[in-house]
Amino acid sequence: MSINNPHIKSFVPPQRTLMGPGPSDVPQRILDAMQRPTIGHLDPAFQDMMEEIKSLLRYAFQTENPLTFPVSAPGSAGMEMCFVNLVEPGNKVIVCVNGVFGGRMLENVKRTGGVPVVVEDEWGKPVSVAKVEQAFKDNPDTKVLAFVHAETSTGAQSDAKSLAELARKHGALTIMDCVTSLGGTPVLIDEWGIDAAYSGSQKCLSCTPGLSPVTFSEGAIEKVKVRKTPVQSWFLDLNLVLGYWQSAGKRTYHHTAPINPLYGLHEALVILSEEGLENAWSRHRTMHEKLRNGLEGMDLKFVVEESARLPQLNSVWIPEGVDDAAARTRLLSEFNLEIGAGLGALAGKVWRIGLMGYSAKAQNVDFCLKALKAVLA
Ligand SMILES: *Cc1c(COP(=O)(O)O)cnc(C)c1O
Repeated sequence: MSINNPHIKSFVPPQRTLMGPGPSDVPQRILDAMQRPTIGHLDPAFQDMMEEIKSLLRYAFQTENPLTFPVSAPGSAGMEMCFVNLVEPGNKVIVCVNGVFGGRMLENVKRTGGVPVVVEDEWGKPVSVAKVEQAFKDNPDTKVLAFVHAETSTGAQSDAKSLAELARKHGALTIMDCVTSLGGTPVLIDEWGIDAAYSGSQKCLSCTPGLSPVTFSEGAIEKVKVRKTPVQSWFLDLNLVLGYWQSAGKRTYHHTAPINPLYGLHEALVILSEEGLENAWSRHRTMHEKLRNGLEGMDLKFVVEESARLPQLNSVWIPEGVDDAAARTRLLSEFNLEIGAGLGALAGKVWRIGLMGYSAKAQNVDFCLKALKAVLA
């Protein structure tokens, strides 16, 4: 059998500006790092680089957790790793749902055989700490609290510190989604006392998609060790992955690490450490303010109230009478600019403008405002 399309050649993507919910623009420095020669995943040079990635990730997460590494799969796999390891069948889990990703956490709880206690909040609002407190009072046997720090589907940020404090007070472990917050707004794993957190490479770290940085506390590891039932996922079982990501020299084969994407993540984390976390956070904030001023000048209204607004994900209501799909098509075809559509309950109603990582710069903000003005005229 032959290929029925003889015109297929090497793929050359168009040059876009990425200002959606991720992936964000990838700096050339990271792309250059990724095209370096592939070496073996048990090569001592590669193992040294893995150790550096672990230290750089500890800095990004602000944690001393030894078990901090990138899962060889996208953010969704990091999410799944947290749930399959920390939730045993019959375990009660308080799961906060205020957008798409909280809904996915709930799905994970159900599939691991956990007993979900759902705390719901309106889309666009942060998780209500008072409702979570009540849920703990009503369910003193809760084993895990799960919430999304930065809800990318709406642009709302929740109070991770207060939520984690409640979990600790009630003897529960905390699982936190920080896919969109890591590198963009403060994520303080140790200070807040978070037990398990997962992120993604393609949002505020500005790397290519496909890797999920995770970190686990001693308490989380303890829970995995005393499980009565085996973790139902072979690939994501921490007991097995541990043998691969433990100290260099003792490493045993578990799976073949994605060598070149990890060069990219290493470079992304070096860039972050050169800039400094605090500077990265304040750059996201400054660019958000610049974008906000421009959007409000065009009479566009934000979905999330100011106190809970994520600088790196700006949701605005689509003005009355504007065709959502047609406007985004024009942005892409005339300006090579990608912004995000609404998801779930907000589909067709909002636009999500990302200012993540390398995309959070004045040049992008000006360009986006100019393009939106032209399309809305
Ligand atoms: C993007 C995202 C995910 C999923 O990450 P993938 O890399 O797409 O699998 C999970 N949670 C949040 C909050 C996200 O923004």
